[in-house]
Amino acid sequence: MSESSPSVPASISTAANVPVARAHFIRQIIQEDLATGRCAGVITRFPPEPNGYLHIGHAKSICLNFGLALEFNGRCHLRMDDTNPTKEDVEYVESIKEDIRWLGFDWATHYYQASDYFEQMHACAVRLIEKGLAYVCHLSAEQMGVCRGTPTEPAKPSPWRDRPIAENLAEFAKMRTGFYTEGTATLRAKIDLASPNMHMRDPVLYRIRKISHHNTGDKWCIYPMYDFAHPLEDAFEGVSHSICTLEFEVHRPFYDWIITHADTPSKPRQYEFARLNLTYSLMSKRKLYELVRENHVSGWDDPRMPTLCGFRRRGYTPASIRKFCETIGVTKFNSLTDVALLEHAVREDLNKTSSRVMVVLDPLRVIIENYPSEKEEWLDAVNNPEDPAAGTRKIPFSREIFIERDDFKEDAPKKFFRLSPGREIRLRWAYFITCTGVEKDASGNIIAIRCTYDPATRGGDAPDGRKVKSTIHWVSTSHAIPLETRLYDRLFSKEDLNDESDGKDWREHLNPNSLKIVTAHAEPSLAKIAPGTRLQFERIGYFVADIRDSKPDAPVFNRTVSLKDSWEKINKNSLKKAQDDASAGEKL
Ligand code: ATP
Ligand code: MG
Repeated sequence: MSESSPSVPASISTAANVPVARAHFIRQIIQEDLATGRCAGVITRFPPEPNGYLHIGHAKSICLNFGLALEFNGRCHLRMDDTNPTKEDVEYVESIKEDIRWLGFDWATHYYQASDYFEQMHACAVRLIEKGLAYVCHLSAEQMGVCRGTPTEPAKPSPWRDRPIAENLAEFAKMRTGFYTEGTATLRAKIDLASPNMHMRDPVLYRIRKISHHNTGDKWCIYPMYDFAHPLEDAFEGVSHSICTLEFEVHRPFYDWIITHADTPSKPRQYEFARLNLTYSLMSKRKLYELVRENHVSGWDDPRMPTLCGFRRRGYTPASIRKFCETIGVTKFNSLTDVALLEHAVREDLNKTSSRVMVVLDPLRVIIENYPSEKEEWLDAVNNPEDPAAGTRKIPFSREIFIERDDFKEDAPKKFFRLSPGREIRLRWAYFITCTGVEKDASGNIIAIRCTYDPATRGGDAPDGRKVKSTIHWVSTSHAIPLETRLYDRLFSKEDLNDESDGKDWREHLNPNSLKIVTAHAEPSLAKIAPGTRLQFERIGYFVADIRDSKPDAPVFNRTVSLKDSWEKINKNSLKKAQDDASAGEKL
């Protein structure tokens, strides 16, 4: 990201690592603002409250804010929204920074904390009082609620609404010095008690909280309300476009009121877009925290969590998340996005970049009768058919191999083309084999199958041109290494967790089968693999060596996503729907 002061770009350019952007309404607004000179350049901000880890919904906001700044040669600020004096954890602050960097974005020197502006905010409040636009009120929260009125019936004025300015200044000073106890005084804006917008009916600007703040300590016992603080923070930083989610649309008149009356150094404007909701996922930090605290998951970075650190551990690439955010677009109506779209994005990315290996998850022994028992061969295997530069590796072949149990059927139905008695198939990178028999234990379970191989088919092709209908993966039993493999599935079995019409608690929708751990059998190239390495297990899925638990001599792999699954069809529909939604957004 450019650190120089923003300027109007001659043409729109995108950074190489950011997916090429489609038109959407915020981009159009920015183009118009630059063209008409409403602003000289683009300054956006991402303002997380440091009370939890970032989730995929935040990624949408990060990609939008940092992406627009990059595109228009402006800048995006990272601002910790820490006006609340509740416990903020340095752990959260550090994780937020790490996750944004991991996604591929950079705030350069523009790191801010909202609490650093407390003095300036206080000065703005005093300015409003001096203008007769704010007053100290002694109604309790409960009394205020009673006086609020309804959308069609105006609020009742506070008995303190028409206090003289000098008295308000003196009372506000008393609030600041701790004269009043919590709940006995607030500073309120004096706007419009009959406004149909309830947020304009003399909203509270400051309240008393006798709590230490992690940054300012005990310096303050009055704290600004979010709606008062946020426009000021934007204005102090010269933010040109303050982008937030749709629920703040009704707060915008108050945002504008503050900007108009508080003598701010700049005039930011607020724009709202629809938040991301994802199927089978929770997106509230509070609920994510409860998942962690109640041990439904192993931590914020459990690979089933929709947090960015969870996705990172699951093996998702930053590029795939950016691509997903680009695909879903930016619109002005709330919808539920199919998680299959995100899975599609990571599959597409990993398909291009990850090396293939052979791993058997559920082993069935195969004895190749005509292969000498003392013999072993090291065959050439292509690492990535999508990337010739990835080269080849050697894999060992021997008389006894493992194949996947479900790649064999004794009584094969017509459409089953894999191994069955009498059927010839190809072993990937090795030979054609034909099944000649089955070995069973006393209770009739298949414990091994017997085959013959055709030595002329080494490498996987028959010189006489004969074809086989399937190719399966395998691992030599004597060379196989054990691999702890964590098969992750969706954490929830309910599609729309925002829909609470069934009256059930979200905990009741936890998927009891979201994690299955198996000891797989892997080709020996998986020994000594570096944590974080992403691989495709042929015909199974994409996996990553766990960044926490995998050790070079004791590898642990997480399933990032299955290779292709029943979701593929839904995927196409969802992709189309997302594109329709996004283009509807363009028209807004
Ligand atoms: P949560 O509801 O998960 O607690 P929040 O809005 O309180 O989220 P913040 O830390 O305040 O979390 O969010 C920082 C920024 O990220 C805000 O600008 C907010 O609009 C945006 N954001 C949060 N959730 C989403 C989402 N699901 N989709 C898009 N943007 C989001
Ligand atoms: Mg928030």
